[in-house]
Amino acid sequence: MYDKLSRPQCSVLTQLRTGHIGLNAYLHRFKIAPTPLCPHCTTLESVPHLLLICPAYRHARLRLIIRVKTAHLSLRTLLSPKSDAAPVLAFMCDTGRLPRCEL
Ligand SMILES: [Zn+2]
Repeated sequence: MYDKLSRPQCSVLTQLRTGHIGLNAYLHRFKIAPTPLCPHCTTLESVPHLLLICPAYRHARLRLIIRVKTAHLSLRTLLSPKSDAAPVLAFMCDTGRLPRCEL
């Protein structure tokens, strides 16, 4: 499933799929982040929020829509092991939300 991906790319995909990722909703559970909320809006900063909802990333999301060739984004399709991971990985880099994003 991860044959053509680098180790950092595999790591980000696994983090997105499990929710164990450097977003505030997860980091706050361990007192690493002061709040579970998104730094851009007053919503829990979770994987669904980042990928599908947060207005701060609408431009990155538009590029994602173009890359996956559908406006009907869902976690199921974006993070499916059968889906092309490149568009999601590009989105993550576009957001700049993960530190040291060297995908
Ligand atoms: Zn947000």
